[in-house]
Amino acid sequence: MILDGKKIAAEIRGELREQIEALRAAGKRAPKLAIVIVGHNPASETYVANKIKACAEVGIEAEKIAFESEVTETELLAEVQRLNNDPAIDGFIVQLPLPEHICETKILTAIDYRKDVDGLTPENVGRTVQGLPSIISATPRGIRELLARYNIPTEGKHVVVIGRSNIVGKPVALLLMQRPYLSLPGMSASSLGDATVTICHSKTQDLASICRTADIIIVAAGSPKLLTAEMVKPGATIVDVGINRVDDPASPKGYRLVGDVDFEHVEPIAGAITPVPGGVGPMTIVSLLQNTLQAYDLKFDI
Ligand code: NAD
Repeated sequence: MILDGKKIAAEIRGELREQIEALRAAGKRAPKLAIVIVGHNPASETYVANKIKACAEVGIEAEKIAFESEVTETELLAEVQRLNNDPAIDGFIVQLPLPEHICETKILTAIDYRKDVDGLTPENVGRTVQGLPSIISATPRGIRELLARYNIPTEGKHVVVIGRSNIVGKPVALLLMQRPYLSLPGMSASSLGDATVTICHSKTQDLASICRTADIIIVAAGSPKLLTAEMVKPGATIVDVGINRVDDPASPKGYRLVGDVDFEHVEPIAGAITPVPGGVGPMTIVSLLQNTLQAYDLKFDI
């Protein structure tokens, strides 16, 4: 079975549109997201354009705030403070990567966690660890939602996560091993969580035999064909987070996007699998929209 992130994301956008229309009908303002982008990285510009388009589709106001790559860290920190204090902004993100002369950690930790719709501040991560109301980073939230909507249970299952980044590997592992007491607006009620999770990374020994014991494998390594058919137990669920450009002279762009999974050989033995593109990517964007509505709605009163 193909886990169609594009289709599910469209479904969720429809639900969000209805929720936001209901807010407007009740005389409330629309939620508003600001996106800060620095420089002209083509991939970042595409991601930002996609996010703005997705906001428009559901009725979230979006504002792009662009800086040239020469912007100083102090100027960017001042912008973060301005957005923290602007009551018209419900949430904002700073598109990564930032130029070398700017410390990403300094910028991200300056964001007010109540507006941190990327869920990357230490406060949000810590609150998630403790099961307090928090904003979960978009890709892990999207993965959990995709599994939920396809009724793939995680309770008691062995989940192997390949990758230990702050934006995917660590938070998705945390989310799936949690007791499922986080009930967030816009998230389907499900028993997701309660998995037994193994986190693997570049120093892990014998990745293949660990993967073969997995009921669910989540690959977020950024390495094409890292997960091969010999590493997969028949019937396992495979979530491919990777986005890699590989040369393809047959394509008009000269390249195509592939994930971290050897899709052609893994798909026939997997029970369920996400394609790249069209799997986790669209779920990540729609999760950002859900997080924005959550930031508009949620009372962080604990
Ligand atoms: P990263 O680049 O920060 O880290 C990669 C991780 O993979 C590291 O923890 C490393 O230890 C591990 N790793 C690398 N090679 C490995 C190997 N051979 N065996 C075992 N572990 C290995 O990761 P990231 O920022 O989480 O991104 C990972 C991939 O996911 C990238 O391709 C990125 O473009 C993609 N991504 C996609 C989305 C989406 O929405 N689909 C979102 C975020 C990231």
